[in-house]
Amino acid sequence: MPRTVAVLGGGISGLAACYYLIRAPQPPKVILIEASQRLGGWIRSVRGEDGAVFELGPRGIRPAGELGARTLLMVMLGGAWLQALESGGQKLSQELFQQQAQKAVATQLGLKKPPTQSLVSLHKSCIPQYTLGHWQRLEAAAQFLAKHQLPLTLAGASYEGVSVNDCIESGRRAAAQVLNAIPDL
Ligand SMILES: Cc1cc2nc3c(=O)[nH]c(=O)nc-3n(C[C@H](O)[C@H](O)[C@H](O)COP(=O)(O)OP(=O)(O)OC[C@H]3O[C@@H](n4cnc5c(N)ncnc54)[C@H](O)[C@@H]3O)c2cc1C
Repeated sequence: MPRTVAVLGGGISGLAACYYLIRAPQPPKVILIEASQRLGGWIRSVRGEDGAVFELGPRGIRPAGELGARTLLMVMLGGAWLQALESGGQKLSQELFQQQAQKAVATQLGLKKPPTQSLVSLHKSCIPQYTLGHWQRLEAAAQFLAKHQLPLTLAGASYEGVSVNDCIESGRRAAAQVLNAIPDL
């Protein structure tokens, strides 16, 4: 009777964990639990009416052709700049973000023409920020799980790297850890 492994969250980390679990020589039964209506988490593309594809998370679109002609640009704004605006009482609006993005594109790439189409999304707290003491807290959590023999393994952007590559690797390592912990699968 194969053991059952539950994977919580169908972002790239959870999907990678599922992939590596079911590729084991004697795979466990894998149940993926996803809170939303779709898989992929932050990896999400949306298509505008004219067919232009916007990436809401990591960049998947590579500009083709002459720069500025048929080019889709992604401008990410945030961090200290956003915090300064918020603490200064500035009202955050789609127009403000678009203005800032166009200003950045004009200054840094020399593209002065306004875009033919644009999409502005505000994603609060979308990329985990590792604050001081992060690694110690992670180590303490790992020790707690080991000490209490909890059948729980952590993977994902909140722990050891936010890039897509890091997330896939964390899913792979979590799957390997689970498979090692239950050798009688
Ligand atoms: C705007 C943006 C741009 C980025 N650009 C890049 C880039 O260019 N290159 C790069 O390498 N990385 C980039 N990243 C980082 C990378 O995309 C993310 O770190 C990665 O996709 C996170 O994957 P994840 O599976 O760890 O988490 P998530 O994508 O957040 O997935 C978690 C999943 O778990 C689900 N969930 C949450 N709680 C529960 C629950 N209680 N029960 C069930 N399901 C639950 C969620 O619905 C979600 O589907 C970007 C991220 C953002 C936001």
